[in-house]
Amino acid sequence: MVLLQVYCNTCDKKVQAKVLERFESQYHIRLEGTYGDEPTKCYFRYGLVQILPHKKSLLKSCTNTSQFKTVVESDKTNMDGVLVEP
Ligand SMILES: [Zn+2]
Repeated sequence: MVLLQVYCNTCDKKVQAKVLERFESQYHIRLEGTYGDEPTKCYFRYGLVQILPHKKSLLKSCTNTSQFKTVVESDKTNMDGVLVEP
């Protein structure tokens, strides 16, 4: 089971989700290099994830365990360590 970090679309917290499916298409982006550099190639891939049961606060659980499409492979993460499109 592959787990990754996503944002819950109900409580907005960073939570764990399991990857159910990785979509076939993979996106490549060519970033412009700075002067004298070769442009860099980045990639990311979308997939289907399901949010695992988690707590909304100390006492309340969040009931959201929905499935949704998000980035499941990427060269880049944001400040929370969540995968994002480069
Ligand atoms: Zn939640």
